[in-house]
Amino acid sequence: MPMPEAGDLVEQLVDALRCLPGVGPKSARRMTYALLTHNRDRARVLGHVLLEAVDKVGHCRRCRNLTDEEFCAICTSPRRDPELLCVVESPADVQALEQTGVYQGRYFVLMGHLSPIDGIGPEEIGIDRLAAWLGEGTVREVILATNATVEGDVTARFIADLAQERGIGSSRIAHGVPVGGELEYTDGGTLRHALTGRQKLSSGS
Ligand code: ZN
Repeated sequence: MPMPEAGDLVEQLVDALRCLPGVGPKSARRMTYALLTHNRDRARVLGHVLLEAVDKVGHCRRCRNLTDEEFCAICTSPRRDPELLCVVESPADVQALEQTGVYQGRYFVLMGHLSPIDGIGPEEIGIDRLAAWLGEGTVREVILATNATVEGDVTARFIADLAQERGIGSSRIAHGVPVGGELEYTDGGTLRHALTGRQKLSSGS
């Protein structure tokens, strides 16, 4: 492999930044120039933190959310209601719901949704771990906050059945979340409304 010329590093950085969501060639170039011209110190911090995060951040052993500890801060907090479990598709959804400030229970992060066409079954979204959690007997209500998409609905229904088999009631947030909408992009007021106006899917026993 030929040695890259000095100027190539600029192009490599432009290229590397394009892995970020919503960053096209133009913005990648703008970012590159900004980092290398006015923000060298911050760029150094960015590089440092990025490397460290990539090396150290994994998944909470209980809820699967991102954390650099064995268990995340929400799972270990004694102030969270252990009887409420909110199931979401991604860490960004946890963040969006936390910002509403109305939810005090715990979360389970699927890191996706059921999608048989893409080969994503129950195993890929951690259903065995969720089932074990529900089997412990502390959870009284499962709040299904998967996205308002076909896959999100199918996933919610699947988990509602799982909960019902264990005598646990479940509800689905839907009210106010636009059809096809992703939680991450839904505003706080709508999310708060969606959470408080959740619909019962099954009553458990
Ligand atoms: Zn956790």
